[in-house]
Formats: sequence, C-alpha cells, structure tokens
Amino acid sequence: MTKKLQAVRGMNDILPERSGRWHVLEDVVRGVFADYGYREIRLPLLEPTELFARSIGEVTDIVEKEMYTFADRNGESITLRPEGTAGCVRACIQHGLLHNQTQRLWYGGPMFRYERPQRGRYRQFYQFGAEAFGMPGPDVDAELILIGTRIWRTLGLRGIRLELNSLGLPEARAGYRAVLVDYFRAHRDRLDRDSQRRLESNPLRILDSKNPDLQSLVAEAPRLLDHLDPESAAHFQGLRTLLDQAGIEYRINPRLVRGLDYYTRTVFEWVTDQLGAQGTVCAGGRYDGLVSELGGQATPGVGFAMGVDRLIDLMQDQTLGEPDLGGIYLVASGQAAAASALVLAERLRDQSPGTRILLNCGGGSFKSQLKRADKSQAEVALVLGEEELAMGTVGVKFLRRSVEQRTRPMAEIAEHLRAEGVI
Ligand code: ATP
Ligand code: MG
Repeated sequence: MTKKLQAVRGMNDILPERSGRWHVLEDVVRGVFADYGYREIRLPLLEPTELFARSIGEVTDIVEKEMYTFADRNGESITLRPEGTAGCVRACIQHGLLHNQTQRLWYGGPMFRYERPQRGRYRQFYQFGAEAFGMPGPDVDAELILIGTRIWRTLGLRGIRLELNSLGLPEARAGYRAVLVDYFRAHRDRLDRDSQRRLESNPLRILDSKNPDLQSLVAEAPRLLDHLDPESAAHFQGLRTLLDQAGIEYRINPRLVRGLDYYTRTVFEWVTDQLGAQGTVCAGGRYDGLVSELGGQATPGVGFAMGVDRLIDLMQDQTLGEPDLGGIYLVASGQAAAASALVLAERLRDQSPGTRILLNCGGGSFKSQLKRADKSQAEVALVLGEEELAMGTVGVKFLRRSVEQRTRPMAEIAEHLRAEGVI
C-alpha cells in the first residue's frame, strides 16, 4: 500500500477560502510601506549557513536548533532563511547600497524554522519586514513604530499593544551581563537545564525564557535599563519623547531582550493577548553593529519583522478582511447560448474590470448551474436560454436579494447592472 502524501509537518497550505484575507493584509502592508518611502528588496530563500551563524548568533534558539541546514551538491552548507534581516544586510553590502546614503527597504515571504508546530508557530511561516539603514537617531526608530501602528489601524486590528526596551551598546551590556550572571549564579538551583547552559554562553537569553517556573526569578533579576550607557539612555529617552508626541502608547518591558544577538539599543514587540502563547505579532529593534559584523562599513540599522500567519489568525478572530466575492455568474443552456454567454462575459469584463465574472463551464441543467452560481457567492446570475437567445435578451436573477427575475435586452445589460450597483 502506498502512503498517503501529506505536506511536511508545520508547513501549511493556504486554501482559497483563506487566501483572500492574505491579499487584504498584503495590499495594506505594501501600501503603507510605499507611503513611508520604503522600497521592496527581493531576496533568495537560501543563503550560506555562515551568514546566519555570524548575524543571528551561535548561541540562539534559531542557530542552535531551528535551522534547515544541508549540504548542496557541491558540499557547500546552505540554509533556508529563518528570518530576513541577515539576507537583507548581506545583499546591501554585496551591492554597495549603504555607501554615503540612507536606505529604506522592505521584504516579504516565507521563513523556515524547525520548531514544534502549534497554533501561531509553524516550520514555514511568513514575514513582512522593514529595514532602515544609515540613520542613527531615534527618529527612524519612531518611524518604524508608526508604520506598525498604521498597518494595524488600516487593517482595523484591535488589541495590539507596544512593548519597548533598550539593550544599550555591547560594552555596557557586558557590564550588565556580569551583574546578571552573579544574580543567576546565586539562584543556580532554580534554573532549568537550558538556562544553566546559557548562564555561561548567553545569560541575557535567560530573561527571554518561556519556562513558567522561571518567571518569578526573571522578574526579580537586575534590569538592563538600569545599566545603560549614557548615550543609549539619551537615545531611549529621545524615542520615548517622539512616541509621546505622536500619541503612541507603549509599555516599558525591561525583560524584553529578543531572541537574536544582533540588537543594540531599541528593541520592541507588538503583542496581543488574543492569540494565546504565540502573542507576539511583530518584533524588531536597532542593530548598529550588524553591517560591520558581516563585513560592511559600520552603518546603523533598525528594522522589524511581522508574523503574517499570526496577524491573519487575529484578523480572522476579529472577522476582518473577509473577502467580498460577489460578481456575476453566467448560466447558459445549449451550445449557441453558451457561446453567446462567453462573448457577453468578455464584454462585461471589458466594461467593468475588477468585477468578478464567472462563466458556467461544463454545461448542466439550469438547476445545477444555478446551484453552482449560488455556491460561487456571485450576486447575480445572468441566464441565457434558447428563448433569450432568440429574443436578444438576458435573464437577470438576483441571488442575494428577494426580487423577481427580470429580462433585459442584451445590449443594455451592463447599464442595468450598473444601475443596480452590481458592477
Ligand atoms: P517567538 O518568541 O514567538 O519564537 P521570535 O522572537 O523567534 O518569536 P522573530 O525572529 O523576532 O520571532 O520573528 C518576528 C515575528 O515572526 C514574531 O514576532 C512572530 O510573529 C513571527 N514568527 C517567528 N517565528 C514564527 C513561527 N515559527 N511561526 C509563525 N510565526 C513566527
Ligand atoms: Mg522563536
């Protein structure tokens, strides 16, 4: 017996009844990015493995255990991108996009992480991200946050709030790291295995632990915000002032450290309580060291990535972005009428681009055709039978209104449908 073929675990098919909502989101995101002067950069799905080890950091969940890494046919180690920033920076350096200029870029598409699949956490998932280069001040941090705000508002999403923190510069972080290690060492017995290991390699990541048993220990840990270097403190204050002036609400979350090593200063997350454990729908921050880390000339950078799958779930829960199908379904009986319907459909498409016009293909009785028309969610069925064909008329049947079927001359059909608000 052959095994039933199934999609790879954690990789979803997006079926037609859901893809309409994806289009709504994608159109809004693209539109908002464009309105802020961000331009799209399209990047490969595969990158050299080393890129991610050097940018995201060796001692991170992603690089330690989540990457799809394999040798290609030449033996080179390549990895399916787990996120977009590293590839974006790589491309900017490679093509000289960062010399003496600022760049505002966005990207979108699938990312791959070998995680335990559950609602809001998949192995192939989708992100839209924005990256801004060459601007060191908090103004552009604020701009990116405003972009997020505008996207949620345009989509009509409710219940997404902003959390904010600053990680300071690496040197100041090293000082804090020592304080933190002392604290966790004193409570070593309360740490789980992962955290004990991280104590030596990457103690800040313990603050990001999702283990509920660690939460109280983490809550009482010394705060990174109290150990910021003066310039980072000023940057953070600058951002807060800008957000206050723009009327953006936020909560300072001193435990927000983010899962990637490359962040400096500002980090932020957009979170909701409506999606259970996977409540972060967008996350980002500043990464002033990353470009030089990857071999480019030191250039400040800041960006974010939003989790499209989670946003789609939220839109669905809030019944937003329901695709409005509507349109016209052409029903015809007999070969001559079917040919006439095909021509009429083309004419209507010429006259009213953007209106959905479905032609009944494959014949069938009037009854079965009308059943299909109803199932298609069309608003109107246009009926062409032998009688209509002989008279040069079309039957107009409203499928969602309780009005009588009527007959109109073929030549006036578009006008009639326009008057009825169908096209
Ligand atoms: P988490 O803490 O939920 O694992 P993360 O810190 O690993 O998130 P980022 O790398 O910052 O996530 O990615 C940005 C956004 O992409 C996340 O906030 C989330 O919305 C989304 N995301 C990340 N991993 C997944 C996944 N496996 N499935 C679906 N969405 C994801
Ligand atoms: Mg993760």
